Amino acid sequence: MNNIKFFSRSNLPIEMHKVRIVQKLNLIPIEERKEKLAQAGNNTFLLKNRDVFLDMLTDSGVNAMSDRQQAAMLQADDAYAGSESFERFEAKVKEIFGTPFVLPAHQGRACENIICRTFVKPGSTVPMNYHFTTTKAHINLNGGKVVELLCKEGFELESDFPFKGNIDLEQLETHLKKGNSAFIRMEAGTNLIGGQPFALSNLKAVKKLAEKYGAFLVLDASLLAENLFFVKKKESEYKDKTIRQITAEFAENSDIIYFSARKLGFARGGAICTTNKEFYEKMKELVPLFEGFLTYGGMSVREIEAITVGLDETMDEDVISQSPLFIEHMVCKLKKAGVPVVTPSGGLGCHINAGKFLPHLKSSDYPAGALAAAFYLISGVRGMERGTLSMDRDENGNDVPSDMELLRLALPRRVFTLSQVEYTVDRLTWLYKNAGIIGGLEFFDEPKILRFFLGKLKPVTDWQDKLLTAFKKDFGDSL
Ligand SMILES: *Cc1c(COP(=O)(O)O)cnc(C)c1O
Repeated sequence: MNNIKFFSRSNLPIEMHKVRIVQKLNLIPIEERKEKLAQAGNNTFLLKNRDVFLDMLTDSGVNAMSDRQQAAMLQADDAYAGSESFERFEAKVKEIFGTPFVLPAHQGRACENIICRTFVKPGSTVPMNYHFTTTKAHINLNGGKVVELLCKEGFELESDFPFKGNIDLEQLETHLKKGNSAFIRMEAGTNLIGGQPFALSNLKAVKKLAEKYGAFLVLDASLLAENLFFVKKKESEYKDKTIRQITAEFAENSDIIYFSARKLGFARGGAICTTNKEFYEKMKELVPLFEGFLTYGGMSVREIEAITVGLDETMDEDVISQSPLFIEHMVCKLKKAGVPVVTPSGGLGCHINAGKFLPHLKSSDYPAGALAAAFYLISGVRGMERGTLSMDRDENGNDVPSDMELLRLALPRRVFTLSQVEYTVDRLTWLYKNAGIIGGLEFFDEPKILRFFLGKLKPVTDWQDKLLTAFKKDFGDSL
């Protein structure tokens, strides 16, 4: 698709699929959105989907399936044991990753449960490029500790460094010398720093260090699809390799691979795979205990069929280029409009720098949460707060300010069209011009653990009324 050039204008990303099943969207008027927002306690997790216009909360389990996936779901084999659906799935995983041993699990965190219970012991450490929320929770649950070794560029919100997901190799070697690591974890498409990839050369160097110090390497491949695309586009050594060849090199340099098929494979489920029989035998016992029998692992056989085809489609550059190119377009347009965004554009969505968008707010005003609420109010678009609100209080009841205040606008794979992306950019640009109106939020109902999921907040002043008035002045009777 990179070879499709436009005659009359600069290049645009173009959809390499056509729509064959649709879901009707509603955009309720801004006055109603204000009411719904108040009912949801200004928390976008608590909005009803029917009140949302474009749902950019997450890319998890909400990716569009292809006609081939839907067709495959009809031929699912419902046997409890020895299902042919699983055989097809296992064969596809082997074909792509070259791993003879495959364990199914119901989603990504279930894979993490099995891996961490097997390998993490009290006092062990897990060095990694960057943690993911559920991974960290499972490592801690088993008495281990996450050691964050992200390269320094990864923490710079605005950068042109192509591989912000790289691990710092020097720090990794220093850490491995201590000899208490359960394993090294590399997360593809590093989620919490904005869907940023690591370089294949970085992974290869990590593998060498692992061998030198007798450690092994676990690859979290949940967001691998976009990382593969970025390696092909940005790492010159791999520009002439096929996506299949690049995938094989990722696999050859990992000892265990696991993934959430809510992201990789455009369906819902998960799996662990390895070439190491001993690792497989150790982990295998936990699958029937926590997930289900070895030939379904808690997944519906229909979803297993959909993942099998989805993994095959992941090997197609036209398919995996879609999200990165649409996100790049969105980030470029926002940057041109002066809106502070995380750069370079990553693979899972567009991340707005709420700290810079709302410099007049303190972290205790929850700038990223206020921005998520304000953006829903003026656009009907639902994003996710990733900032101080997502951090729980310390033991003294104080807020823990987050390193970054981000509004994440996820682009689920193959779901949104270019005009929907343009609408989002347009409304964000308007909001940035009116950012001074936006005030803080405060809790009126605050859970102690993972407060961002269910907590309810209210605006500290009448800023939402003022924002509505400004919207009406500029947009008249537009929704
Ligand atoms: C989503 C995700 C997980 C967890 O997967 P679930 O299917 O949501 O349990 C783990 N790692 C990464 C990088 C993810 O993005």
